[in-house]
Amino acid sequence: MTLHGGLIVEARVTHAEKLSADRFRLSAERQGQSETFETRRLLLATGLRDLTPDCIGFRQFYGTSVHHCPDCDGYESRNKRIAVLGGGKKTVGFALSLLTWTNKITLITGGDAGDMTADDCVKLSDLNIQIIDRTIVALEGNVESKQLERVLLQEGDSIECESLFFNLGTELASNLHEMLGCKLDDESGLVWVDESQQTSVPGVYAAGDITPNSQLAVVAAAEGAMAAIHLHQSLIPSERKSRK
Ligand SMILES: Cc1cc2nc3c(=O)[nH]c(=O)nc-3n(C[C@H](O)[C@H](O)[C@H](O)COP(=O)(O)OP(=O)(O)OC[C@H]3O[C@@H](n4cnc5c(N)ncnc54)[C@H](O)[C@@H]3O)c2cc1C
Repeated sequence: MTLHGGLIVEARVTHAEKLSADRFRLSAERQGQSETFETRRLLLATGLRDLTPDCIGFRQFYGTSVHHCPDCDGYESRNKRIAVLGGGKKTVGFALSLLTWTNKITLITGGDAGDMTADDCVKLSDLNIQIIDRTIVALEGNVESKQLERVLLQEGDSIECESLFFNLGTELASNLHEMLGCKLDDESGLVWVDESQQTSVPGVYAAGDITPNSQLAVVAAAEGAMAAIHLHQSLIPSERKSRK
């Protein structure tokens, strides 16, 4: 399919390499066939994969009453009973951020509290957030409307709740950046980019969830647009640029 002169190929890129300062090669597979493409610039926008709960029923509710992003779905959960799944200090902050919308929160660590401290537990308890150090084995509710009603815990108990927010981490969806030698951002572990969305490898740009900015659709689209502008600029020959 072509769009505005660009060729759109529905294929999985399996390999990326830098051939020279101004040349990259991609290998792709579709329907069992391999193809290669050569290009002067690359824009990586392969996104992230959320690590999801390994429990029965998860897929039936994910996206409607099971979520991973308080900023995206907190408002719809206002005043509801929320279960939060995850461990460590990051999940403490995650659970606290949900207090903007509801004060009916239970934090379930999945049996791994990570680096959560006794002080964290006191803080959560002072704010009425109960901590349960157990594993979720199943989610139950109205499958037709995708409305969660309870989480079932190992050893038989259950907790009534209308939403579950999980915070189990993410991973980069592809390793093309690794093959190309792109540096990672120290803090987030995502692909480092400069203000023009260029990675540490000249000619390779990155946009969207794989970069350290907020993982939001509008941010991904804006970064893609910025990358396109800078990428285009980088291809304009010097004789067509005004002198500074
Ligand atoms: C359940 C859910 C709810 C969300 N709700 C919101 C919301 O309310 N508001 C909001 O702003 N954001 C929301 N987000 C986040 C938003 O979807 C992401 O920020 C956005 O999609 C990121 O865009 P992206 O292009 O970087 O990555 P993606 O949308 O993940 O796209 C990456 C694409 O690259 C493809 N890909 C990966 N590897 C390869 C490869 N090797 N070869 C070829 N293709 C490859 C993938 O198949 C995918 O199609 C939500 C996300 C989820 C999962």
